[in-house]
Amino acid sequence: MTTAVVVGSGPNGLAAATVLARAGVEVTVVEASAYLGGGARSVASPVDGLLQDHCAAVHPMAPGSAYFQSLDLEAMGVEWAYAPYDAAHPLDDGDAGLLSTSVEATAAGLGRDGRRWAAMFGPSSRVFDKLAPGIMAPMLRAPRHPLLLARFGLVAGPPPTLVGKAFRTERARALFMGVAAHAIQPLGQPLVTGIGAGIITAGHAVGWPVIKGGTGRFTEASIAMLRGMGVRFETGQRITRLHQLPRHDIVMLDVHPHIAAGILAGHQPIRSRRAFRGFKPGPAAFKVDLAVDGGIPWRNPEVARAGTVHLGGTAAEIVAAEREIGAGRMPERPFVLVGQQYVADSARANGSVAPVYAYAHVPNGYPGDATEQVIAQIERFAPGVRDRIVAVRSRSTAEAEVENANFVGGDILTGAKSPVQFLLGPRISAQPYDTGVRGVYLCSAATPPGPGIHGMGGFNAANRALRLA
Ligand SMILES: Cc1cc2nc3c(=O)[nH]c(=O)nc-3n(C[C@H](O)[C@H](O)[C@H](O)COP(=O)(O)OP(=O)(O)OC[C@H]3O[C@@H](n4cnc5c(N)ncnc54)[C@H](O)[C@@H]3O)c2cc1C
Repeated sequence: MTTAVVVGSGPNGLAAATVLARAGVEVTVVEASAYLGGGARSVASPVDGLLQDHCAAVHPMAPGSAYFQSLDLEAMGVEWAYAPYDAAHPLDDGDAGLLSTSVEATAAGLGRDGRRWAAMFGPSSRVFDKLAPGIMAPMLRAPRHPLLLARFGLVAGPPPTLVGKAFRTERARALFMGVAAHAIQPLGQPLVTGIGAGIITAGHAVGWPVIKGGTGRFTEASIAMLRGMGVRFETGQRITRLHQLPRHDIVMLDVHPHIAAGILAGHQPIRSRRAFRGFKPGPAAFKVDLAVDGGIPWRNPEVARAGTVHLGGTAAEIVAAEREIGAGRMPERPFVLVGQQYVADSARANGSVAPVYAYAHVPNGYPGDATEQVIAQIERFAPGVRDRIVAVRSRSTAEAEVENANFVGGDILTGAKSPVQFLLGPRISAQPYDTGVRGVYLCSAATPPGPGIHGMGGFNAANRALRLA
């Protein structure tokens, strides 16, 4: 019987394990941490009875992914939940851009820019089921729908700073730039729009759902399903060398390329090793979990109905803040993402006390405490929030890396999503999952199609392993 070892139990590792186990391979998952799930876990909040997403929270790319579509989510007990608005972007004067799943509703709220927004994102979102396999696969190969991909590329290709110029109102410009900032990159670079355009387009097709009961619910359900298929799990085992692994025919590495190069030392061809070692981390995130009595008192009450809130002011201000963190400097007012998952999933709150999830974009390895900057950005658009905060818990960039070695310097995207790394992963190759070592594959979020719990790195890499086994 073919045997496989999956190193790392993040969503890509679990997706790889699922594909292999379904094909009859005997699979063992080995995890460094005491907890399974990597960036797809839920944790108790600083206040009893509240539930927080530890890392991944909102999942526009998951429902349409081939991996998720191969799962029977209902049988697994996994349910999506949706807020009335997918995202909101408040401005200082009380105005706000509001992103709905419906492209028409979003456009209607954007006034003079509505038609432009609908023209940019409507056509691709209407064929998202055909587009998704192309944008969630390795890039250096002939796509099945080249014209659809080319049309998507017209928006995703130019830098966000250029795409943003298409809008005449600050409401639309800022709404777009806030989503583009999910790339956590300087926004003047080409192709960096890909992440933002992908999640706007996916959102207009399938929404920006959260998982009822927390992202960890999906991980727990996946593990139960895998155990039922005979997959074994070993926690508390950090792999640093290939010889530590149990007997295997296939190895799937759900790890950062730097870690993979260490594990494969002495086995990997020099060019692949150099490419893995040279893979660059991106800027980081400083996470703050809050418990807020009565929820956040947004100046614009519509913002309270959004699952995700982007705080950074105008498009120009966001561009400047992202440029600063890219250059290794901490801005006074960083871009902050706020998650209000309880709006979609009310059971996460405890009476009037709501769990609020937030993180600031900060330089890689930022040694400081950004808690005050996060709270100040929320207070800027929601005066009085400080008086409602009943508990705070922060996670520095160093703590993020200690918990999960894939988040180098607190980089939550497993590598800078600069144009080349985002499209191709660590090596320029049509086979981005190959490590240069026979039977060993890289499948983490460092590989295409990049970060998220969609599982497509693991799904694609495991299918490649099965083809070559
Ligand atoms: C604060 C934060 C917010 C986020 N928000 C979102 C979001 O809203 N939506 C979204 O889609 N994504 C989000 N993400 C990103 C998402 O969590 C990741 O892209 C995703 O978890 C990557 O999955 P993965 O399987 O590649 O690896 P990971 O989830 O990073 O898991 C890798 C696993 O490998 C283990 N490991 C590492 N090295 C070794 C070793 N040597 N030996 C054994 N085990 C090892 C780690 O302990 C870890 O458990 C967020 C991340 C963070 C941190």
